[in-house]
Amino acid sequence: MITIIGAGKVGTSAAAFMMVKELDDILLIDIIPNKPQGEALDLSHAASILGKSITITGSNDYKDMAGSDIVVVTAGFPRKPGMTREQLLGKNAGIIADIAEKIKEYAPNSIVLLTTNPLDAMTYVMYKKLGFPRERVIGFSGVLDAGRLAYYASRKLKISPASIVPIVLGMHGQAMFPVPRLSTVMGAPLTSLLSPEEIEEIRKETVAAGKTITELRGYSSNYGPGAGLAVMVEAIKKNQHKAFIASAYLKGEYGFSDIVLEVPLVLGASGIERIIELPLNEEEKKGLAESAEAVKKLIDALPPEYK
Ligand code: NAD
Repeated sequence: MITIIGAGKVGTSAAAFMMVKELDDILLIDIIPNKPQGEALDLSHAASILGKSITITGSNDYKDMAGSDIVVVTAGFPRKPGMTREQLLGKNAGIIADIAEKIKEYAPNSIVLLTTNPLDAMTYVMYKKLGFPRERVIGFSGVLDAGRLAYYASRKLKISPASIVPIVLGMHGQAMFPVPRLSTVMGAPLTSLLSPEEIEEIRKETVAAGKTITELRGYSSNYGPGAGLAVMVEAIKKNQHKAFIASAYLKGEYGFSDIVLEVPLVLGASGIERIIELPLNEEEKKGLAESAEAVKKLIDALPPEYK
């Protein structure tokens, strides 16, 4: 069973994509009475219409997640227009620490995926509070940041985003580090296919994408994260050994330790199977270090009880 904690916009979008893919039965948990039950009922009707053979239920009781092999955490406050992900830090750390206790109690063998912002710092809190091996604690966002890079590049190149392997490293936030030289179309780097001006435009659009959506419609993205969570859960459920960009607790990779950063990694039935270290040049190493510094500042700013 897949448990999704937080039956808000991201949680329910993720459930919808997972239902369409028939990955497993889904449980939605939320603290708001009746909300997860209502969302589950609507999604169950959608599953019936699409002819999908899975069960979707809602609950306000964490006990119901007992035995889940995957727990997706989308609980927390989202960004409002004009608000940075960083401002969410204190508010959401408390929620993540509480949820970590529930996961330890009811789903101690699960693989945990997390979206709550500020993502890298919240994944750090979750990892520290759970005490699970790092292979089973994964921060979601790299699939989204990279997916956005592929989207904006595809429009300039007039080529399907599916033909682009996009690389974004570091922080999920304003300090994210897109790497156009290592983002390729059939092996050709974007830097060889586009002008420096076009690449700078794509970089800016990618970094601003979340903010752009929030400013246009008044609330942050949910379909992109929902789709990304579904493909990551699929890779775990089907033991696909598939590579993604995602946030992981680093133990020396790229020269960083005791920090969570977006890196390329391989997902399978046991969670993170390995982290791929890309051959960064000196300029890129510097860019990643600056991005990591922004994450470190957030981790340093966490109250001691969350570390
Ligand atoms: P939302 O407000 O629509 O949903 C959040 C839900 O969490 C609410 O229903 C709320 O009741 C619930 N909740 C709060 N505390 C809880 C608890 N202790 N246990 C169970 N449920 C709890 O927000 P959203 O748009 O779905 O966003 C959720 C989170 O994901 C936010 O922190 C947002 O910033 C983040 N986000 C991350 C990414 C990413 O790429 N990592 C992308 C989009 C949004």
